[in-house]
Amino acid sequence: MPASAEAPVSYQLAVGDARINVNELVGRRVRLDFDGVIRCIHCDRTTKKSFNQGYCYPCFRKLAACDSCIMSPEKCHFHLGTCREPEWGERNCMVEHVVYLANSSGLKVGITRGTQVPTRWIDQGAVDAIPMLRVSTRYLAGLAEVACKQHVADRTNWRAMLKGEVPELDLEAERERILGLIGDDLAQLRQEHGEDSLRVVEESPQALSYPVEVWPSKVKTHNLDKTPDVEGLLEGIKGQYLILDTGVINIRKFTGYEVRFRVLD
Ligand SMILES: [Zn+2]
Repeated sequence: MPASAEAPVSYQLAVGDARINVNELVGRRVRLDFDGVIRCIHCDRTTKKSFNQGYCYPCFRKLAACDSCIMSPEKCHFHLGTCREPEWGERNCMVEHVVYLANSSGLKVGITRGTQVPTRWIDQGAVDAIPMLRVSTRYLAGLAEVACKQHVADRTNWRAMLKGEVPELDLEAERERILGLIGDDLAQLRQEHGEDSLRVVEESPQALSYPVEVWPSKVKTHNLDKTPDVEGLLEGIKGQYLILDTGVINIRKFTGYEVRFRVLD
């Protein structure tokens, strides 16, 4: 679900070749019908089951993008010469990454490619985020994140995020605090990987707002694998979720699913 950081965040839904402006549909009844076909987003083969949010099993086993080091960047093994696709690794992992703090359901730490800011923050439904470090590779970002995880969460409580139950945080102050706590870890990493490999940044926080008219009091999820027809009043969009009065649906989870999308009234 492509999105851009306007106020509120502007969402489009990719249905076939069409791009639908979903913000305009908040307040209307919509329906999604999954016809049972899943196509791999890499090779376009049909697959009975989707792996890693949109891939067939062979691609899941073969692509660097589906390797376990993507979820755990501190396990990056590019430097050992065992990257599944070294050229992909060069373009996607051996490039500048940002270690950031975000407020999605409370304070969390995360990493992303420099070019994925603020897309990554929107995906997580963050209401506020701030860069903390700029580092030379994904691997180093992973090591810095591991140091931070001793002091701060790295997960979003997505139910709280979707209910809009988010405390206010002073991210500049939190950045100072966390940087103070990981000072020794950073010194150690610089010693091992070079003085310029991790840079503390003083960039400003970015606030994000979402087109939500009604926050759900209870979060029930729709799953197209179990119930292929989903219908409801669209009450909002946040993170990768459509919020319907009948439940929420994580659109990212069903990437590659052939779905007919209709506006009912
Ligand atoms: Zn495939």
